[in-house]
Amino acid sequence: MMPAVQIEGLILSGRSNDSLTEIVNNGKLVSDEIIINLLSKRLEEGEEKGELGFILDGFPRTIRQAEILEGVTDLDLVINLKLREEALLAKCIGRRTCSQCGGNFNVASIDIEGENGGPRMYMPPLLPPPECESKLISRADDTEEVVKERLRVYHDLSEPVEEFYRARGKLLEFNLPGGIPESWPKLLQALNIEDPDNKRSAAA
Ligand SMILES: [Zn+2]
Repeated sequence: MMPAVQIEGLILSGRSNDSLTEIVNNGKLVSDEIIINLLSKRLEEGEEKGELGFILDGFPRTIRQAEILEGVTDLDLVINLKLREEALLAKCIGRRTCSQCGGNFNVASIDIEGENGGPRMYMPPLLPPPECESKLISRADDTEEVVKERLRVYHDLSEPVEEFYRARGKLLEFNLPGGIPESWPKLLQALNIEDPDNKRSAAA
């Protein structure tokens, strides 16, 4: 995988772009125009450097952004990663941060029955080392009520965007079967990409 920089839900593969990071870190509200201008500048730079492609994570979030983006670049594919709501909810509520070192952990242990006869979903917790155990804090807004409301808002915003790309034949729906170890090979399969790690271990 290429190194990726995450900028508040927006991932640009390749090298980091200081100006974008600064803008997002310094102000919470970034207008669509600013984001799209910086994005198109970054894409042009990448093309000049010979980058073969890019991945945007969590962007566009609105129809308006999707429409402006369409005028800037032609996306090959949009992947809608879906996780069962009970697992999402548990993962959000289980988030913990170490108040001393800032490490991020998750105490949720997810083990739920498969849907429609599907396989069980198991996602182990990401537990802190002993020295962090007594210093864990959770975000005040990671409560069931608030997370459910955030999910509702997310669905209201994302459904039209999903429809936008579905109508263009570009939307791939992908139901996450569990954590990264189960999901990664299945996602590569869905994308018709050979897993470089599997190849290596097969050759060893
Ligand atoms: Zn710690």
